[in-house]
Order: sequence, then C-alpha cells, then structure tokens
Amino acid sequence: MTLEDYKKKRRFGITPEPSGKSGAQKNRDSNLAYVIQKHRATQLHYDFRLEWHGTLLSWAVPKGPSLDPSVKRLAMQVEDHPVEYASFEGVIPEGEYGGGTVMVWDSGDWEPEVEDVDAALQKGDLKFTLHGKKLKGSWVLVRTHGYGSSSGKSWLLIKHRDQYASTRDVGTEEPRSVSSKRLLADIARDGGGDVEKAATGDPAAKSAKRSPAVNPKRASASSKRRTRT
Ligand code: MN
Repeated sequence: MTLEDYKKKRRFGITPEPSGKSGAQKNRDSNLAYVIQKHRATQLHYDFRLEWHGTLLSWAVPKGPSLDPSVKRLAMQVEDHPVEYASFEGVIPEGEYGGGTVMVWDSGDWEPEVEDVDAALQKGDLKFTLHGKKLKGSWVLVRTHGYGSSSGKSWLLIKHRDQYASTRDVGTEEPRSVSSKRLLADIARDGGGDVEKAATGDPAAKSAKRSPAVNPKRASASSKRRTRT
C-alpha cells in the first residue's frame, strides 16, 4: 500500500493536512487505530478509517454509521491516508481537495475478528470489533458489486447484533468532536473556515440554539437539502 494517491491529490503548502512523509512507524505491539472523521466538504460525509500495514484504510460513508443491524450504510473506499491523519481536525481551504471542515467524530482502536485481514479485504468481507468512544462492538464491511466507475470501491458498513446494537441515532445524538467537544461550526470558526457551510453538518436544533442569529428558515431549508442526499 502506498500514499501516492493521497499525496497527488493535495498541496501541502496550502492544506493543513499531514503530508505523510514522516513515515511514522508505530510500535508493533501497539493497537490498531480506528477513527471516524466527520467531513463537511461538497457533501457531508463520515470518513471511516482503520489502520492496517502502517496506513489508514479509508471509506467515505455519506450517511455515517448506524447502530441498527438492519441498516446498511454505503461506504465508498477512497485512497489510503497516513496514520498521522487520525488526529487531524480543522479546516481544509476551499478550492483544495476535500475543502471544508473536518472533525474527529470518533476514535479508538480496532481488532480484526478474522485470522487473515488481507484475505478478508481481498474477499470483500471484513469482520471487526471497534473500541471507540461512540462506536463499540462487532461490525462488518462487505464489498458490493458496484457499478460503472465505482466498481470494486463500494462497500456496506453494517453493525452486527450485540449489546451495542441500537436504533438510536448516534450521529444526531452525539454530534460533537471526541477530541475537542466542538461542533463543525465551532471548528470552522476557530480555523477561519466557512462557518455557515459547516453548521449545515451540525444538528439543526443545536446550531439554532447556539447561534440565535441564524435564520431558522435557512437552517430548515439546508437540513432538508441534507436529508435528500
Ligand atoms: Mn472526506
């Protein structure tokens, strides 16, 4: 695995994202990192990342994870990211690749539930346990047949039935960063980003309460737009 695609897409003099050139190797005994970054780019999505062979395997999940085992969430595999990316939270300048606001929505570590992870990835059926602050227990990523240019890239993220399965809406109920407790709008404000755009990724009621200046009509129009995608 290489970070070539990751590096090709980004201009490191401009974006604050890690360049991945440090080649930081983690202790072999240490746990495998898991992170979900909520990313208000052109479209809101959740970037699901699992450390493997010194990089972060990455999937963009448009609707975010669901704790309900009957719900399958589309997860488009994207380029591997450097391990240092797991702690990145901030603003990618508009016009750059992935321009928008990034939040560390959940983090922790993960454990494969299979003997041979490479074979499982090859086969397109990876079962694993998450030890995050928000997401825990058993999950699976299953590759679908996909279609057209997305062939081979499209997977489904599904919760297995265990004591952590639930029908509650974890995305809406726990919208804040696990590393800074901030909402997307707060991160955008602190990083000189587009606060209004970032706020459309935060739960509507909370952002309205926090900033009374927001026009409620606009807020509800943007939440309608959001649920359609
Ligand atoms: Mn992203």
